This record gives sequence, C-alpha cells and structure tokens, in this order.
Amino acid sequence: MKSLSNVPAAALPPPRSKVLDARAALHAAVRGRLSFDDLDRLSYARDMWPLAQLWIRQGRVPAPPDAVVWPGTDEEVAQVIALARTRRLAVIPYGSGSGVCGGTWALEGGVTLDLKRFDTIGEVDAAHRSVVVGAGVLGETLERRLNARGWTLGHFPSSIATSTVGGWLAARSAGQFSSKYGKIEDMVLSARVVLGTGERLETPERPFSGPDLLPLLVGSEGTLCAFTSARLRVFPFPKGRVFHGFEFGSVEQGLEAIRLLFREGLRPAVVRLYDPFDTAFVGKGGAHQPVTPPSLRSALQTSLMPALMRQVTKHTLGRPGVMNQLQRAFSRTRLILMFEGEPARAEAEDRSATGICRQLGGDDLGEAPGRTWFKKRYDVSYRMSRLLESGTFADTMEIAAPWERVLQVYQRVHEAASKFAFVLCHFSHAYADGCSLYFSFVGSADSEQDMEARYHQLWRSALAAAVSAGGNVSHHHGVGILKARALQDSLGEGRHALRAVKTVFDPDGVMNPGKLGL
Ligand SMILES: Cc1cc2nc3c(=O)[nH]c(=O)nc-3n(C[C@H](O)[C@H](O)[C@H](O)COP(=O)(O)OP(=O)(O)OC[C@H]3O[C@@H](n4cnc5c(N)ncnc54)[C@H](O)[C@@H]3O)c2cc1C
Repeated sequence: MKSLSNVPAAALPPPRSKVLDARAALHAAVRGRLSFDDLDRLSYARDMWPLAQLWIRQGRVPAPPDAVVWPGTDEEVAQVIALARTRRLAVIPYGSGSGVCGGTWALEGGVTLDLKRFDTIGEVDAAHRSVVVGAGVLGETLERRLNARGWTLGHFPSSIATSTVGGWLAARSAGQFSSKYGKIEDMVLSARVVLGTGERLETPERPFSGPDLLPLLVGSEGTLCAFTSARLRVFPFPKGRVFHGFEFGSVEQGLEAIRLLFREGLRPAVVRLYDPFDTAFVGKGGAHQPVTPPSLRSALQTSLMPALMRQVTKHTLGRPGVMNQLQRAFSRTRLILMFEGEPARAEAEDRSATGICRQLGGDDLGEAPGRTWFKKRYDVSYRMSRLLESGTFADTMEIAAPWERVLQVYQRVHEAASKFAFVLCHFSHAYADGCSLYFSFVGSADSEQDMEARYHQLWRSALAAAVSAGGNVSHHHGVGILKARALQDSLGEGRHALRAVKTVFDPDGVMNPGKLGL
C-alpha cells in the first residue's frame, strides 16, 4: 500500500449505486467473498502500467472498481457474469495485476473478478506430458511444484513470481526461454472458461476435428471470457545447459546470426542480442566478466539507471536527442545464447551455433556472458516510483516483426522514440519467422504534466513507426488500454470481425470494457 499513500481519500469516488444495489446478489453468488472497502478498491484500481505510477504520484486514482469479488468455482464465476449482464455491470477479470498496459483498469467501475482462488495444480500426466492448472496459480508456485517432480513448464516471464496462468493466457505471455518452449499459446492444450454470456465452456483436448476456439480466446485480455483453468504442456527438467556469448560489429550481423541459427533448425532456449548502446552501457568489464541485464526492468534497477543517473542529469534526459546522438559512437552488439536439454544434444547445438556465429565474424566471448545473465535473470524491479521521484519516467515496448523487416522496424522506432526519450533495444524471443524487439525508454520533462504529455507522444510515435515499418503492436505484454487504438488501426478490416466475435461471446459488453479497443 505504500505506493498508494499519496492518494487522498477524497480522490476515490464512492461505489456506483447500481453496484451497491447488487450487493446482496453478489454476496450470494460468491458466498460472501466480496469487498466494497476503499483500500481494496484502491489496490485494484491499477496494474503495473507506468502511467498508473505517475498518476498515483500526483494523487490521482487510476480506475477503481466499485467492488471486488473472489469466486472459487466456475459456477460462481458464471453467476457473477450472469448478474452483471442483468444489471449492466462491468466485469474485470484479474490475475495478479502485473500487466503493464492498463488491462485491469476498471474504466467504467463495476466488479473486479479476482481469480486467485483457482489455485489447484493437478498431477502431471507423464504419458501426455501435460498438467491441469487453475487460472489463479502464480508462475513461480507452478514451476517449483513441477521441478520437484522432475518437470518444467519452460515458461519464465520476468514477472514469474507475480503473474498467473490466467493472466498469461489472457495477455499472450512469453517467457525468457520462449525460443525453445514457445509462448503460452504454444503451451496451452485446452482451457476451461466462462464466456461473457455466462456460459461455461471447455475447449476440446487435442487432437480433435473442426475449428479450434482456443486461439480465439487466448489473447482476449478478459474481453470475451474469464479463464478458470488450463491444460498446459510440460517438459522433462533439462539435464544440461550450455551458455555462450558473442560480439558482432553491428546489429545487422547479430540479427543475421540469429536468423541463420533458426533457419538451420537450432532452438536455443535463450537468444538475446543487445543493441550497441545497451551493450556498451551494461556490458561493462572484460569479455569474460560482462554485466548483461536480463531485461529492461532489471537493467533499470540494477545497472542502467544508477549508471544513467551518475552519467547524465535529468536535464539531459529532457533533451534525449543529445544522449541518442552519442549512440553513434558505439557499434558492437552482444549476443547471448543458451541451449538446454540432453547434455550431448545441447552441446552439439552449441557447436553448430558457434560455427555460424564465427562465420559471420562474431568474436567468441566464451560462456561467461550467458552464465552471468542466467544468474541475474530475475533481478526485476517493481520500484518504478524511485525513477519518478528522480523526475524521470521509464517504460518498455515489446513488438515483433518478420526477419525481412526487423532491422527496418528497429531503425524507424529508434528514430521516432529518440525525440522523446533515451532509447535502448534488445532482440529476443526468436523464431524461424522473425523475432521480438524489446525497446527501453527513459525520459524526463520539466513538470509532471509535461512528463505525461511527453510519455503519450512517445508511445504514439513509437507504435506508429513500428506499424508503418511492418512490425506489430505487441509481442507479449498485451494491448490493454495503452495500445488499444494502435491495435484497432493495425487490424484494418479485421476489426469488424473482432467486434462481431465480441458480440457473440459478450452480447451485453460487460467483459472488461475498453480493452483491445472493445
Ligand atoms: C517487472 C515486470 C516484468 C514483466 N515481464 C514479463 C515477461 O517477461 N513476459 C511477459 O509475458 N510479461 C511480462 N510482464 C507483464 C505481465 O506480467 C504479463 O502481462 C502477465 O501475463 C500478466 O499476468 P497477471 O496474472 O498479473 O494478469 P493481470 O495483470 O491481472 O491481467 C492482465 C490482463 O489479463 C486479464 N486477465 C487476467 N486473468 C484473467 C483470467 N483468468 N481470465 C481472463 N482474463 C484475465 C486482465 O483482465 C487483464 O486484461 C512483466 C511485468 C512486470 C511488471
């Protein structure tokens, strides 16, 4: 609650009367597990979207629900949704609130549906290599349980300790090892959901005949259904890991190395290429003792921000052009690879990858860069407020593009965003078809109002540049409110089809209004 301490009580509007009127019926639907308390409403008024931090600092409440409910069965969820339809109340499915795009903001008030009581983890079906898991299970709890039985999910988002299976499915999550194990949509075999109609649905187990509804629901961010459980694929816990680092003369060479690795059929669990400034800023030390960050957020906290704070003033960040110009002085890019699985196979894959990287002029840095990354891969910071206190904002933008357009997307977004913030990028989550680009932005302005205006300008320009250069608007953080307009624009005629799907699955528009632009 510390981060909400700036918010004066008067900033929280009282619950809407139509929700108060539904109190007895809600109480009956979830057997008394509901709250209209100010503290609960404040806590659920936001997620980890940096804009929320900015607002809270200004004493503004982002978007509080009128009530919070904690159902424990599919039937209870169905009853809440049926009630919401009759009384025209918004329902906002909620996992753990670690989303970074405003996906859980209660834009029209209503009822936040916290699904954390769906917390069961079934026995692993060893023959099928799968496990049935409740939507409210936290990632770390699941992974620890699987590891103790000799299995892994292979899904390691940096937010693993604070995100749920339902949130992953709703926002198309990707973990750090996605290049081998896939994104969450590749791991889910079937799911149980309650639709916005109030109907309960279990998608068929594979293999099956006819159309598959599951891909339509994954990524729907609470606008079509609430996930209550899912059958997920599991893998034997890897017996061996091989790490390797390389340095290239340019981003282009590094990207070409990754593209060739995947074209040759190699599947490293980890592939991360840091752009020159990212490499220069955080990859300090000798080739064998680099300090390479696992993600922007950890970088900001553990090395990048302190380094930035020492080396540049707030004034300089307010004129990011100066800092971004400096980047021209750097060209070396660092690539980190990690293969895992059966030791002999991982080593053989690493040998093939080494051949490709050397052929493209990569300098071999040995295993140290990868090992260091692995050790620090969860050094994640949630203390964005510290950055705000220093008069700075920071955010990340993760998008994806096919191989033939990755470089162009990188250059255009970099150029567009550089007018408003200091920009770094790394490339990760690679596939045979393309890869994701993970931009980090740090900016500043003279006042908090100017900061918010600059923040919005930055996002508008960066997303427009990404789409015009042939990229998409999100790889794994979802869309929420932040990217809703950009998503709708990028869908073209497809937005009518999406609207039609919404009408069928959520005829009264009660499910998470305003997200995905729906
Ligand atoms: C420090 C940090 C690091 C992060 N790193 C990663 C990363 O490496 N990879 C990654 O993918 N993401 C990452 N994220 C983003 C975030 O963790 C993911 O978006 C995650 O999937 C959200 O899960 P959650 O349970 O917290 O969902 P929430 O934030 O509660 O909700 C996210 C969206 O999903 C909907 N939703 C939640 N649960 C359900 C459900 N059961 N049924 C239907 N809809 C539901 C919500 O309505 C909302 O629209 C990071 C976030 C932070 C703060």
